[in-house]
This record gives sequence, C-alpha cells and structure tokens, in this order.
Amino acid sequence: MLVTTPTEQMFEAMIKATRGDDVFGEDHSTNDLEAFVAHLTGHKAALFMTSGTMSNQIAIRSHLSQPPHSILCDSRSHIYAFEAGGIAYHSQAQVTPLNPINKMHLTFGEVSSNIICTDDIHYAPTRVISLENTLNGLILPLNEIKNISELARKKGIKMHLDGARIWNASAETGIKLSVYGEYFDSMTLCCSKGIGAPIGSVLVGNEEFIKKARHLRKLFGGGWRQSGLLASAAKFAIESNFPHKQKESHILARRLATGLHGYGILITQPVHTNMVFIDTTAVNVTIDTLTEHLASRGIRICGDNQSNTARLVTHYQITPRAVEEFLQVVGEVVKKTI
Ligand SMILES: *Cc1c(COP(=O)(O)O)cnc(C)c1O
Repeated sequence: MLVTTPTEQMFEAMIKATRGDDVFGEDHSTNDLEAFVAHLTGHKAALFMTSGTMSNQIAIRSHLSQPPHSILCDSRSHIYAFEAGGIAYHSQAQVTPLNPINKMHLTFGEVSSNIICTDDIHYAPTRVISLENTLNGLILPLNEIKNISELARKKGIKMHLDGARIWNASAETGIKLSVYGEYFDSMTLCCSKGIGAPIGSVLVGNEEFIKKARHLRKLFGGGWRQSGLLASAAKFAIESNFPHKQKESHILARRLATGLHGYGILITQPVHTNMVFIDTTAVNVTIDTLTEHLASRGIRICGDNQSNTARLVTHYQITPRAVEEFLQVVGEVVKKTI
C-alpha cells in the first residue's frame, strides 16, 4: 500500500459526526477537534483546514503585515521547496533558505548568524523563523529548537513549526507535543499521511492569530461548510494512530534499512523515523529495474532513475510481512545483477 487509507472504524467515527456549518462556527465535531489539538499542543486556539500547504501558507501570512520582510528556513523545507512558491505569491516575502552544515538539521549558530535584524534599508528583516520537524524523516533536536526560539523571542521574530510530521518526532523521542508547542507561536499538524485521516491539517496558535488565520482561510476560499465528518476522521486518526502505531512504523523503517544495507545498498541518511533514503548505484541496479520488480509483486515506490535514489516511507498500515517481502524482492534483483 503506497499511502494510508481510511479504515472501517474511521468511517464509523465519521458517521457519528455533527452536521453544523463551520463557516458559522457551528459544527461541534470541528470545534471539538480544534479544541482537542489546541490542548494537545498547549496552544489556546486552532483551525482545521484542507491541507498542510494551506495551513503553512496561512500561518506565515497571518504572522506578517507588509513587505519588506523575510522568512528564514531550511532550504529543504516544505514551505519553501514544495508549496509552489506560495511564500512569494501570498506573502510577498523574501526567503533566507539555509543549507544545514551538518546535512541533517539547522543549528542555533546557523540561524543566529543568518537572521536579518537591522534598520539598514538594504535588507528585508526576518519576521518569521520556520522550522520543520521531522524534515525528510529527520528529528530536529529540542535543544536547537529551544535556543532558536529564545533568540527569536528576544528579537521579536515569530516562530512557526511545519509539524506535518511532528507525530513521528514526538512518538520517537517521547517529547510531548505540548513541549514542542512551548517554543512556537504557530504549528501546522497534518492529520492525513502517517496519521491516516483522508484529509486535513490543523493550525494552532493564540486566539488573535487564529482569528486572523480564519479570516485569511476565507479569503483563500478555504472556508468550508459541514466539515464535521472530516474532523471526526481526523480526531479518530490522532487518538487511535498516535503515538503507538507511529513507533511501530519506525521500527519497520529501521528493519528495511538494515536489510537493504546488508545487500550493499547505500542508506544516504540516518533513519530517525519512518523514512529511508537509498542509493542503488553501488549494487548496479537502476531504480526503474527495482520499481519494475517490486510492482510485479504489488509494491510501489517512487524514486529518481537518473540519480539511482529513492525515498521509502513506512506507515501504520504496512505490515512486518510486507517489509520482509520487499527485502526478498530486492534481494533477488540485487543477486541477479551481481
Ligand atoms: C505533506 C507535507 C506538507 C503539506 O501537506 P499537504 O496536505 O500535502 O498540502 C507540509 N509539510 C510537510 C513537512 C509535509 O510532509
């Protein structure tokens, strides 16, 4: 199975949803989800919306007033690299993208030496620092977050977290969402993907911020009516799939990495959570060959044939048996070409 799909129990939860109109703020299931996620993250208010991209972009826009201004983030971050240039489009903001020296995560030192904090009219001052956790499955250490956040507060810079995958970081480290929450003015949490809901992300922050975000969501065309059934699916996903099932998927990812490494396949970054990045050059197998063999056994992966690299992601609906089967197929392909 390539991605998570809603289960029967999730549909049962959806049937019980209320049918109020969320544009009027009258849907109990939606309000309940928002209160639940706000509480989980230690924030005052929350807003449920269709996608992580919408949540991130509205968050950034809500923190800003008008240019000149800039956002500081990791150059690999979703808000910068994979949201169709949304920061330029929606917020007219400059971005300061940083390439982490350790190739894993941003550090306090890198952030503090790159924030723009001056009256010099040549520059666009940093108004928001946006971090991502996990980023490509990598965990951002809490002490870096803490130090960056303290600096941001001193300088009057807002802190946003793209926590689409914060569930994985929290489940793996045992650090509560509310502890991560302390260091940010806003956080995006995705209820689809690893957590398993069909759709939806939640943005958290203080009441004034969420009020502004709600206004901008309407402007973006994202005010929705009877969102209760989706909110119920999202709440069910959080309650039943976090944190235990996340952790199991991390164990499977590590098993996958160990097995592939055993065949001589390069694992290009540490496996902190549920993602394994591979490079098949050393075993003389192209990604297309691998994809073909796996597809004949009903397993789908996505990769780049040119660079011989691929990203493998595990989730709670992938069984240990599927991982063993995966390894068996890859083992056959590798042996064929050696
Ligand atoms: C998927 C993802 C998003 C965007 O979520 P969509 O719902 O696909 O728009 C944002 N940030 C991260 C880290 C993601 O993995």
